[in-house]
Amino acid sequence: MPTFDLVILGGGSGGYAAALRGSQLGLSVALIEKDKVGGTCLHYGCIPTKALLHAAEVADAAKESAAFGIKASFDGVDVPALQAYRDGVVGRLYKGLQGLVKSRGIEFVQGTGRLTSPTTVQVGDETYTASKAVVLATGSYARSLPGLEIGGRVLTSYEALNLDHVPSSAIVLGGGVIGVEFASVWRSFGTDVTIVEALPRLVPNEDESCSKALDRAFRKRGIKAKTGVRFQGVTQDADGVVVTLEGGETLQADLLLVAVGRGPNATGMGFEEVGVAMDRGFVLTDERLRTNVPGVYAVGDIVPGLQLAHRGFQQGIFVAEEIAGQNPRAIEESGIPRVTYSDPEVASVGLTEAQAKEKYGEGNVETYEYNLGGNGKSQILATAGFVKLVREKDGPVVGVHMVGARVGELVGEGQLVVNWEAYPEDVSGLVHAHPTQNEAFGEAFLALAGKPLHSHA
Ligand SMILES: Cc1cc2nc3c(=O)[nH]c(=O)nc-3n(C[C@H](O)[C@H](O)[C@H](O)COP(=O)(O)OP(=O)(O)OC[C@H]3O[C@@H](n4cnc5c(N)ncnc54)[C@H](O)[C@@H]3O)c2cc1C
Repeated sequence: MPTFDLVILGGGSGGYAAALRGSQLGLSVALIEKDKVGGTCLHYGCIPTKALLHAAEVADAAKESAAFGIKASFDGVDVPALQAYRDGVVGRLYKGLQGLVKSRGIEFVQGTGRLTSPTTVQVGDETYTASKAVVLATGSYARSLPGLEIGGRVLTSYEALNLDHVPSSAIVLGGGVIGVEFASVWRSFGTDVTIVEALPRLVPNEDESCSKALDRAFRKRGIKAKTGVRFQGVTQDADGVVVTLEGGETLQADLLLVAVGRGPNATGMGFEEVGVAMDRGFVLTDERLRTNVPGVYAVGDIVPGLQLAHRGFQQGIFVAEEIAGQNPRAIEESGIPRVTYSDPEVASVGLTEAQAKEKYGEGNVETYEYNLGGNGKSQILATAGFVKLVREKDGPVVGVHMVGARVGELVGEGQLVVNWEAYPEDVSGLVHAHPTQNEAFGEAFLALAGKPLHSHA
């Protein structure tokens, strides 16, 4: 019966980060994975979708080239070549990760594991015992709606990634991150796209101003969005799908993408039997990621909160350090940056204006929106949007919200400012390179500090 300090169930972002950090801290580690190390993010999520989004950007650049004085044309998508590019990116990262796991002396166990006690995980006939802790990191799956079956022309993101053609039309059910990203890619490739979202706005978890700007930009791109309307049913045949909405309206398309969120993959693996407290399928933890069962921790998408890879990484690192006795600082959920990688991108960190008003009171919040129309680099890129800062009155910046091409790359500065609880007065003196989109930050800080340069605040 092999024994390790740490036995980790699931080798995705959360699990493999715990394994790498644990081994770095001198712990012996077994990492159990039924599919591929890297998990959803590397193989079926973040990386392959972002490769498609980059290809979409190339397609748009070709279509719009004349506006920049360049002669080029968009003649269509070579799907096998697109997939080869995407698979090449994923493959290189996968190889690197496998090498890293091996070089750190982590015992990689290929197989399906089951928690059989607070200290043991069974894989086939073998039992892996943890002398210090078990980490549950089994991730999530694409959810559907009651009565909405996946199959044929009704896809989740998993099937959508592997389509061997570009659909001529698509209905995207769900205006959250995944739905919006696929809508954006397909539109760039020439698909006629309609998004259906039950809540009143796209990217409903973001600041309302971001939803409005994205909605406007999408409409300009020809992406239709039906918000505040519920899906009722779908039928499919050889020609396509017919989606019925509440109220009776019907929509027809080649296919329906179901992007209504991701559910925790935490049942049927012994967690309940061992007494791990759960709520609606999620594993409950305290802020130190301990479950109610001593010695059993949980990280990543199975823990309620933002389902993002970098949250999983950080939680994995945290748990390894905690188990190694380093007493790391708890992770602040509101300090985790969020990016929607569509065209335009939406990026944010911290509180929305509405959340800040709820927390500090209506009159105790100041906001400032710097329009990218005044930013040189954004004009060069021909993108529209803004950087919006939310600050506690006479206090630190508590939220940053952005819309525009490439703003995902700017969220690093926002993340530092919000997590360091910086005041606009502190950071307005720091120099931003010209011409960069980062300057929009500098301008917004200047304006909030009462000394606007290229704006009318
Ligand atoms: C289309 C899409 C796009 C996304 N884009 C982004 C993005 O751009 N940025 C971002 O931050 N996040 C993105 N995400 C979310 C991100 O993929 C997840 O937040 C992240 O993968 C969660 O990590 P995890 O370790 O909790 O779970 P996972 O990555 O799902 O890993 C869990 C692993 O556990 C394994 N496993 C499960 N059960 C068992 C068992 N019984 N035995 C052995 N192994 C088991 C699974 O095979 C899997 O490899 C995206 C997700 C999707 C679907």
